[in-house]
Formats: sequence, C-alpha cells, structure tokens
Amino acid sequence: MKITIIGTGYVGLVTGACLAELGNDVFCLDVDQRKIDLLNNGGIPIHEPGLEEVVARNRASGRLQFSTDVAASVAHGQLQFIAVGTPPDEDGSADLQYVLAAARNIGRHMDGYKVIVDKSTVPVGTADRVAAAVREELRARGEESMEFAVVSNPEFLKEGAAVDDFMRPDRIVIGHDDSPAGQRARDLMKLLYAPFNRNHERVYWMDVRSAEFTKYAANAMLATRISFMNELANLADQVGADIEAVRHGIGSDPRIGHSFLYAGAGYGGSCFPKDVQALERTARQYDQELLILRAVEAVNDRQKQVLGRKVVQRFGDDLTGMTFAVWGLAFKPNTDDMREAPSRVLLKELIERGASVAVHDPVAMEEAQRVLALDLSEAQLARVDFKKTPMEALDGAEALVIVTEWKAFRSPDFEQIKARLKHPVIIDGRNLFEPPLMTGLGIEYHGIGRSVLT
Ligand code: NAD
Repeated sequence: MKITIIGTGYVGLVTGACLAELGNDVFCLDVDQRKIDLLNNGGIPIHEPGLEEVVARNRASGRLQFSTDVAASVAHGQLQFIAVGTPPDEDGSADLQYVLAAARNIGRHMDGYKVIVDKSTVPVGTADRVAAAVREELRARGEESMEFAVVSNPEFLKEGAAVDDFMRPDRIVIGHDDSPAGQRARDLMKLLYAPFNRNHERVYWMDVRSAEFTKYAANAMLATRISFMNELANLADQVGADIEAVRHGIGSDPRIGHSFLYAGAGYGGSCFPKDVQALERTARQYDQELLILRAVEAVNDRQKQVLGRKVVQRFGDDLTGMTFAVWGLAFKPNTDDMREAPSRVLLKELIERGASVAVHDPVAMEEAQRVLALDLSEAQLARVDFKKTPMEALDGAEALVIVTEWKAFRSPDFEQIKARLKHPVIIDGRNLFEPPLMTGLGIEYHGIGRSVLT
C-alpha cells in the first residue's frame, strides 16, 4: 500500500520503517530539513535498537523515502499518518498546532479520497478538529465534495523497544466512524494491519473518541502504578520494609500482575508527564477534576527529587567542593531521550548546592549536553564532566548515584567502584542491587524503599 507518514520522529520513523519492512511503499515527511538530510545520507536521528538496520534495508529497496516536499507527500499515500509532536501547552493541554498544520496541508493538496490516520497522542475530539481543518482547506479550493475519513490509531510503542513493539503489538486500536468514508477507511486499515493478525486478531475496532481516550487511559494507568509504588517505597524507607519484597508479594496476585511496579526515581520521557497533564486538562474542560491523576503527578514531581534528597541526607546541605558520579542520564535505558528525565532534576539540585558531577550514559551524552545547556547556566554546565566510561566517572567522587537502569550497570566491578570512589557509597535510584550483598562487599547502599530494619 502507498503510505505517507507526516512527522519523522520516534513514532513516525519507527512506523514508516516498519510498514516499509512489511512491503508497503512509504513516504516520510518532516519539516526539519536537517533530519531529512541526515536520513537521506544514511544517518539516523534517534537511538532505537534495531531501527538503523530496518531503515537502511528499506531505503535501499526503494520502499522508504524521506522528504520535506509537502505536495509530494500528500500525493503519495492514500493513507496519511499524522505522527507529529503534541507537546504540552502552557496550561498542560496538548498543543495541536502541528497536528492541525499537517491536516491543513493534506486539505490543501489532496486530489482524491484519503484516510487521515491520527497516530499522534491527541485529546478526545481531535479527529473532529482535524476533519474541520481539512474541510476548510477543501472549501477554500472549491472542492468541498472531495471525500476523506479521519481515523484514530494511537501508538503504544515503548521507546527503547519501539521496533519490536511495533512489529509484535499487544493490540492495535483503531477508531473510525460509520459513514461510507469511515467504512472505506476501516477496510483499508484492515488491509494494512492484516499481517499483524495472522495468528490472532489484535485489532480493537471502536468509535473514534474511545480510541483517542484509550491512549490516555493506558498511559495514565501506567503512570499511576509507578507513582503508587514510589509513594509506598518512601513509606517503606521510613518503616523499615523492603519495597522489592513487597513488589514480589503483591505482583504474584494475577489481579495486580508484576509489570510496572518498580519503585524508582520517578517517571520521565515525552509521554507520561504530558499525557497525564493533558487528560487532567481535558477533564477540567468538562468541570471534572481527576483527583487520582493530580496525585500521580504530584507524587512524581516529588519523586524526581528523591535522589537529591538522599545525597543531602548523607552528605549535608552544602555540597560545595564535592563531586558526585552519576550513571545514566536518559529517562530510561535503550534510548537517548532526555525529555523530562529525572537525571535533569538531580544534576540541577547537586550543582545548585555547589557540587560538581562526573556523568556517564551509554548513548545519551550528546543529547544530555544539548538539554543541560537549557537547564543550567554556562558556569553551572562547566561543572558537568562527561566521562567516556562509567568507571572514569568514579575517580575522586564522594559517591555513585545511579539514575538509569542500563544493562551495563547491573554487574559492575564493585572492587573497582570502591577503589575509585572517595567513600564506598552507592545511591541507587533503580534498585539494581541487593542490599545484603552490598553490605557484604563493604558498600554503603541506599536504594529506594529498601531500608530494611534487621
Ligand atoms: P518527535 O518530536 O520525536 O517527532 C515529531 C516530528 O514531527 C518532528 O521530527 C517534527 O519536526 C515533525 N513535524 C512537526 N510538524 C510537522 C509538520 N507539519 N509536517 C511534518 N513534520 C512535522 O515526537 P514523537 O516522540 O515521535 O511523538 C509523536 C506523537 O506520538 C506524539 O503525539 C506522542 O505523544 C506520540 N507517542 C509518542 C511515543 C514515544 O514513545 N515517543 C509513543 C507513543 C505515542
């Protein structure tokens, strides 16, 4: 099938590359000329396991092309996927300017029936706004009778496992309306996703608004589980219980399940923070307050400060002249995404208290340099030392603080850690190690919710 993907970011690039891998003819559009040039020169703008190979293979086969040519992009695909960003507006609602700009472009250039697929995460009712924007452009051209449909097909991929998630989805949610154009869109979407349904049906068909809502409900639920466990972990620290034992104890109940119950340094990334906020904002527009989600957000804001708090508890308020080693900068492993990363809150706090930091991340160092320049003054940024290896970051540091659970940090050489640090102290925001094991190695270990009284 001929497909256009508008927006070649995390979601758009993965969607385009994976659909090309299945034999489709895919045209990826972006307004960012640098990104398109990079892709056309064989580069890849994001770190995502397996993506580079899929992109290279499909570019070489001619099934995947990248361009900034709007008219050509609209002409190419009968299916037009909108996968542009929906960042939070000042009031927390989703900023739809990029989505609506994409819609207007389609309306301006289309010359026959199109299916416009909202893949971006958008508030309930956005499909109607997309349709109105397209219709307005058609009207301006005197083409108001031209048919099109807007369907909602939210994306559930996880950064760091995006290619795998796209190729082996738990479910595919598609919302469409029952008009003739909507029915025709359903048939085309069914054809597109047929390769995913060979063993069992993965598509959940529903109305458009329910599909839009499903994406927010899913992210709100996941964020809620994280904040729930973080809040309990802080209490576990006070009462002397081990949140990891509690996690196993409750996760074995099939009604609860084991997934997404890890206490840590707070959630970040481009999705949970903004989607929780946007759903709250939608509720407020209907004079409803989502009390649970308000708490989820407040708990998370506080949790992002937990590592800084633990450093202060151990080393005092004034950290002048001290250096701390920090492992992990990305908001989670296997990505270079630094959006809303807890590491940013930690670094700012340590530096504002007078400390210097020696940091390492396996892939996010370049991106970290870019975003930290936004968070910190030039003088503050000079106190961030980017180290090539995790071990180099330890030399002369008071303690090691772990922020991201990269695999490479799971079995480090503890003797080297002890030898390189000034004090054998690990403050672990991801509960990577067992406290008794650390004690046995002579390491003073501070996890999240793991202060067991023995
Ligand atoms: P992103 O910022 O990585 O990419 C968006 C791209 O769209 C950018 O390259 C930008 O230049 C481009 N763009 C903006 N306006 C454009 C226009 N008018 N025409 C063409 N290109 C345009 O964003 P992302 O992380 O891929 O997220 C996209 C959407 O998918 C968001 O709504 C997000 O909430 C949702 N989503 C993201 C993830 C994730 O893990 N990142 C997962 C599921 C859903």
